[in-house]
Amino acid sequence: MAATSLNAPNAPLLQKTHQTHVFLKPISTIPCQTSAKRFCISCSATTQDRLSVQSQSQDRVFNFAAGPATLPENVLLKAQSELYNWHGSGMSVMEMSHRGKDFRSIIEKAEADLRSLLNIPENYAVLFLQGGATTQFAAVPLNLCAPGDSVDYLVTGSWGDKAFIEAKKYCNPKVIWSGKSENYVRVPSFDGLELNPNAKYLHICANETIYGVEFKDYPVPCNPNGVLVADMSSNFCSKPVDVTKFGLIYAGAQKNVGPSGVCIVIVRKDLLGNAQEITPVMLDYKIHADNNSLYNTPPCYGIYMCGLVFEDLLKQGGLEEVEKKNHKKAGILYNAIDESKGFYRCPVEKSVRSMMNVPFTLEKSELEAEFLKEAEKEKMVQLKGHRSVGGMRASIYNAMPLAGVEKLVAFMKDFQAKHA
Ligand code: PMP
Repeated sequence: MAATSLNAPNAPLLQKTHQTHVFLKPISTIPCQTSAKRFCISCSATTQDRLSVQSQSQDRVFNFAAGPATLPENVLLKAQSELYNWHGSGMSVMEMSHRGKDFRSIIEKAEADLRSLLNIPENYAVLFLQGGATTQFAAVPLNLCAPGDSVDYLVTGSWGDKAFIEAKKYCNPKVIWSGKSENYVRVPSFDGLELNPNAKYLHICANETIYGVEFKDYPVPCNPNGVLVADMSSNFCSKPVDVTKFGLIYAGAQKNVGPSGVCIVIVRKDLLGNAQEITPVMLDYKIHADNNSLYNTPPCYGIYMCGLVFEDLLKQGGLEEVEKKNHKKAGILYNAIDESKGFYRCPVEKSVRSMMNVPFTLEKSELEAEFLKEAEKEKMVQLKGHRSVGGMRASIYNAMPLAGVEKLVAFMKDFQAKHA
C-alpha cells in the first residue's frame, strides 16, 4: 500500500486489496492517541469500531486451486481486521511470543474447536506441526514402528505412493494394493485385501487430491494391535469422521483449514513414546505432545488462521452441515459432467468420487487451453489438472461457495453448447 495514496488529510482512506476495499475513516475523525500516526489502523485497539470493512466479493475470483486454496471470505476479513492489532494487544499475531498468554489462548482455542468439530476423544493428542504432510510420510514410520517392522500401504493415488516410498527408509512397508496400473480410478473392495497380520499400521490416503479418489468408508487392519493411519490433507474437516477408527490422522492445512505451513496430526496417545532412535527431535510426536505443540516456535500465524477457520466451521453448524454443503456442490458438478454426453468425462468410479477434487477431461482435448482461458476471463481460475494427469481439476473445498460451483457448471454448459 503506497503511503502517498493515503496522504490527503481528510479524504477517506482507501486500501485496495485483491479481495476487498477497506474504507478507513478520515484521520481527523478518528480518536488516535498519537496524531503522528499516518494510518488510523495503526492505533486500532478496537479496530472494528473504526474500520468499515466492506466485502467486495466481486473483486475476488473463484479459485479452484488444489492447495494452497481458497479460504472463507469472512475469515480473511476477520484476519484483516485483526492483523495490525490483535484484540487490543498492540501487536499482530505474527509478532507475539509463542509462549505469551495471548498466543497460548489462540492455540488452545484452535485445539478445543478442532476437538469439538471432529469429536476428538481425550486419549488423542492434537499437534500443530510444520513441514507439510510430506514430512509426516517419514514421521509416521519413525514414530510408529521399529526398523524392519512390517507395515501395509493401500495406494489409491500418487500421494499414497509417495508416502510408501518414504516409509521404505525407516521400516519394511508393503503395497498391499495399488491402483497405479489403472491410473488410480478406484478404491478396492476391502474383502479381498491381503493384509499383513503383523503390520504395525495400515496407511491410506483418505482423499487423493490429484486423481480425485476418496475413501467413503475405511478398512480395518487385520493385526489387532495394528492401527489405521490416514493422510487426510485434502478432505480434512470436510465431513464428520470417526477419529476412533484411526491410530493417527495427519493433514496439511492448506486445502481446507488454513494456510500452508501448518500440518495437523491427531494421534492416539498410547502410540507415543516409541520413536526410533534416529528420529529427529522435530519429528518426534511425543516431544510435541508433551509440549502442547510449543517445543519450538510453531507456525503461529498459520495456527491462528486455522483457528479462525475452525471457529467458522463451528458457526456453520459443524461438520454435518459442512458435509451437506459439500455434497450439494460436488453433486451438481458431477451431474453436469455425467450429463454432458461425453463432452466432459470424469474417469473415477462413481462410488469413490471425491467431494473435494473433481478431475475431468474434455472429449476434444484440443479445447482445453481455450476452456481454461475462457474460464479465467470469467474469474474462475486454477482449473488446470495436475501436471502429471492433465485435463481439468476443480477443487471445491469447504470455502468454495455454492455460487462458485454453479457458475462453473453454467460456464461448462455454455462452453459445450459453443463447441459440441
Ligand atoms: N498428501 C496429500 C493428499 C496432498 O494433497 C498433498 C499436497 N498436495 C500432500 C500430501 C503433500 O503436502 P505438503 O505439500 O503439505 O507436504
